[in-house]
Amino acid sequence: MSKTDMSSQAENFTDLGLDYRLAKLLDHQGITCPTEIQAQSVPAALLGHDLIASSKTGSGKTLAYLLPAMHRMMKQKALSKRDPRALILAPTRELAKQVYAQLRSLTSGTQFKAALILGGENFNDQAKALQKDPHLVVATPGRLANHLDERSLFLEGLELLILDEADRMLDLGFADQLKQINETANHRLRQTLMFSATLDHAEVNDMAQQLLKAPKRIAIGEAHTEHGDIEQVFCLADHLDHKQALLQRLLEKESYQQVIIFTATRADTDRLSEVLTEQGLKTAALSGEMSQSERNRIMDSFSRGQQQVLITTDVASRGLDLLQVSLVVNFDMPKQAEEYVHRIGRTGRAGAKGRAVSLVGPKDWPAFKRVEQFLRKSISFDVLEGLEPTFKGIKDKPAGNKRPAPGKQAKGGSAKAKKAPQDRRNRRQPNRQIVSDDGMAPLKKKK
Ligand code: ADP
Ligand code: MG
Repeated sequence: MSKTDMSSQAENFTDLGLDYRLAKLLDHQGITCPTEIQAQSVPAALLGHDLIASSKTGSGKTLAYLLPAMHRMMKQKALSKRDPRALILAPTRELAKQVYAQLRSLTSGTQFKAALILGGENFNDQAKALQKDPHLVVATPGRLANHLDERSLFLEGLELLILDEADRMLDLGFADQLKQINETANHRLRQTLMFSATLDHAEVNDMAQQLLKAPKRIAIGEAHTEHGDIEQVFCLADHLDHKQALLQRLLEKESYQQVIIFTATRADTDRLSEVLTEQGLKTAALSGEMSQSERNRIMDSFSRGQQQVLITTDVASRGLDLLQVSLVVNFDMPKQAEEYVHRIGRTGRAGAKGRAVSLVGPKDWPAFKRVEQFLRKSISFDVLEGLEPTFKGIKDKPAGNKRPAPGKQAKGGSAKAKKAPQDRRNRRQPNRQIVSDDGMAPLKKKK
């Protein structure tokens, strides 16, 4: 963890009011100083408040809710002997597994039992595990709702409902399951903690209204806050082959343990994966169309370090803590600026340094501008020797001028454009002209 993540007040975990046994356990894991989100969330949660909290990726949200949950197990009498006392919901199997592993590192050696309930796995085995009356359950929402339907699980005695990556759960369409779970466990003694990468999400706020009672709102930094441990680099690219050449150069010259490459299309994922495999890099490709078990197998082996490179179109890796990933490449820019932050957040975990390199071609330009706006700074471009781009970016023209044809922009083309009616609201077709690397000054026409 970097210094900026640390709380200014709390030096250690017992200062936050946590049971010394928990502090000791953490100490053994080399975790001694709370991060800011932990320093703020833990005392509030211990006081029994409902929370809605956000902080940047890698800032330690998992412990921010697991610690109060464990503290409660240790200090308070259970409402029910049979029902789970705490339920932690996570959007994906990968993330749920990771949360479960972290939970197990806290429960091992205690009398508290934990269970992991994931979609795509044997239902009856899970029902049996639930019959053993685990105190804490980590689950994906869909399968958990199935267990409620089948009456293999009851939540009437639930004391603590925790939603991790609530924004992502809602994006994945789990709203109905969350409501069902909420209603089953709806009694006045229940406490609810909701974590999200962003609180700037209408659905999250709607859900918070339904689930939380007079919640305390904790937002550490903003989603667009600079992530100090991640060095962000941008390179202009002319076309697909140019991007591929840039990528190969990066993979040769950068030092990294593991790298994740994000692409826009499945076809690119497959093609790049073939090319890199041929070059002798241990490469895995992940795509949305794969079966869940196939995805798990790939994510598992990647997080165990069996591949150097993971190529993916989607955000299956979101929320995952992949400590070996020191390089993230955006082969294509993501459509949403928030997604950019999540992607690059796969590196620079827990204070480790990371690098994120984004390739920006003519098609990526609007997405790039959104990221630039989101980060609230003017971005300049790096150039790799021998791979200089012709494309220099596209500048919004002062209102009143029409955008030149895209083909010409890429060639350093026309700053002479016809007048067109002004329409500032039409974001898809901004008025543009060619700009130089710093994204500001207009370039002279070449020929
Ligand atoms: P987030 O959910 O905010 O993205 P995680 O909970 O996955 O972040 O934590 C990221 C990493 O930081 C994990 O490897 C975790 O073990 C580590 N970590 C969490 N809290 C601390 C702390 N107080 N000191 C050092 N490392 C920590
Ligand atoms: Mg997390």
